[in-house]
Amino acid sequence: MGWPSLLGQRARDFGRLRREEYDVLVVGGGATGAGTALEAASRGLRTALVERHDFASGTSSRSTKLVHGGVRYLEQAVRHADRSQFHLVREALRERALLLANAPHLARALALLTPIYGALELPYYFTGLKLYDILAGRANLKPSRLIGRDQAVKRFPMLRHEGLRGAVEYHDGQFDDARMNVALALTAAREGAVVLNYAEVTELTKRAGRVIGAVVRGSLPGDPGPVEVAARVVVNATGPFADGLRRIDDPSTPEILETSSGVHIVLPARFSPPDTGLLIPKTEDGRVLFLLPWLGHTLVGTTDNPAPVQEDPRASEEDVAYILRHVREYFDLPVERSDVLSTWSGLRPLVRPDAIASLEGEVATHPSARPAAEGGPKATARLSRDHTILVSPTGLVTITGGKWTTYRRMAEDTIAVAVHQASLAPTKESVTSHLKLVGADEFQDDGGARLVNGFGLPADVAAHLSAAYGDRAEVVARLASAGLRERLAPGLPYLEAEVVYARDHEYAHSAADVLERRLRLGFLDTRAAAAAQERVQALLQTRAP
Ligand code: FAD
Repeated sequence: MGWPSLLGQRARDFGRLRREEYDVLVVGGGATGAGTALEAASRGLRTALVERHDFASGTSSRSTKLVHGGVRYLEQAVRHADRSQFHLVREALRERALLLANAPHLARALALLTPIYGALELPYYFTGLKLYDILAGRANLKPSRLIGRDQAVKRFPMLRHEGLRGAVEYHDGQFDDARMNVALALTAAREGAVVLNYAEVTELTKRAGRVIGAVVRGSLPGDPGPVEVAARVVVNATGPFADGLRRIDDPSTPEILETSSGVHIVLPARFSPPDTGLLIPKTEDGRVLFLLPWLGHTLVGTTDNPAPVQEDPRASEEDVAYILRHVREYFDLPVERSDVLSTWSGLRPLVRPDAIASLEGEVATHPSARPAAEGGPKATARLSRDHTILVSPTGLVTITGGKWTTYRRMAEDTIAVAVHQASLAPTKESVTSHLKLVGADEFQDDGGARLVNGFGLPADVAAHLSAAYGDRAEVVARLASAGLRERLAPGLPYLEAEVVYARDHEYAHSAADVLERRLRLGFLDTRAAAAAQERVQALLQTRAP
């Protein structure tokens, strides 16, 4: 398989940006922007995608990694008898199935247990999760079921035994968010889009009060100066920063977002069985918390607190203590601060319904304008996770809100709005519901057996390469065989070969791009990532063998 190298591609892409006129210029390379670029390019529209840092460096690498309809939103739907929330859960469950089918190497079904300690909890959670199955319909992964106390303890031995009555088992999807984001960018490029990270939109260009493109500045050594890009539609997919670009467009426009931070911690593998997650159904502030096996570790989160928009939000000690407190409450296994291998925080771009109401003429899609933003510190927990599309009087299209699981649907809606408002002429209807992402076409889920047999790789490395790269894993294995076979961290499956592959085939430019978003080591274990940094840096400067 000769996958095209991206070396030299950047200069060519900047050349194209300057020369060509685009139907759609997407600003922001998170899940929403990369998904939107893929939707546009795969409909035959001339498309460019620019991201000012790395793909997924914003919220899209900092999620809980669940591909889900949202059991919590279902609970809210039931409590408030809210039909629009039911609709959102059902739509997300449909998208869950599509995401799992289109990127089967990066996403898979995961069993989750909801432990039951009170007699009344049992019918409540069982009925709720059965409703989740019903809403999923044919897209359901596996029927939810009740399991007895003994089986619950066997499945999740770390659970607090005292008072445990049993558990409800249900299924959702789980994925590698940052790798999925990179796969979306790569697939958009495969479909013809110009795709650039480290390229920021600093100005919008206008004629007669209408947006006709943007000024893009590359920030890597060797990049040209600012480039004026002509585009019939500019899509603002900048997530928590969406108000920033809207204000570049019109300094007097009201802010529409309220951001809230969500913190996760990572614990060693021993805190979860490898194949089952835990839903802690009620936290002290009336939310839910997940404890999930993820890439050979245990991920726990999340919190939900109002927070200002900032580039690199950090987890506070207070948030870490909050999460540990809940783990201790549900676990017999002692857990200490020193067990925490890594923490991170992400910002949710939540749309304020009151702001939306004031912009009614600009709203193209906001299927559920209802959920109220009542006052109080936890008000963000009740804001809509729904997506909103706005068309400014200048023609700037803003897509924001939503969630990872529904990125494809958000993208489809956004491009439909763009097509309508600029009278674009796509050559096709939307195809993304069945479009396999890069890595998925020839993927065979053999757990890496072919790589063990073909390249003599250790089983853990082979399984990791297969899950991370899908049908491209052999290319990485070949690089390993050519002399890049050492592990980057003792006991972990990451190989030197992956650094060179990330640089040459996945738009990685810095050690952080590689360690945090291509390999995920920076998210799993901060110390191990710091120890590997120098080697990664050196590998980024070598030539491919
Ligand atoms: P981002 O990922 O933040 O992307 C926006 C990008 O725009 C950034 O990369 C930024 O650098 C770039 N940008 C900004 N300004 C410019 C500019 N001027 N020029 C160029 N680029 C620019 N959803 C799920 O489905 N499942 C989950 O389990 C889940 N868990 C979550 C947990 C937490 C804690 C949070 C916060 C969210 C979670 N979500 C989940 C929601 C999901 O992660 C987000 O909805 C999604 O990642 C938002 O993606 P985005 O592309 O809109 O924003």
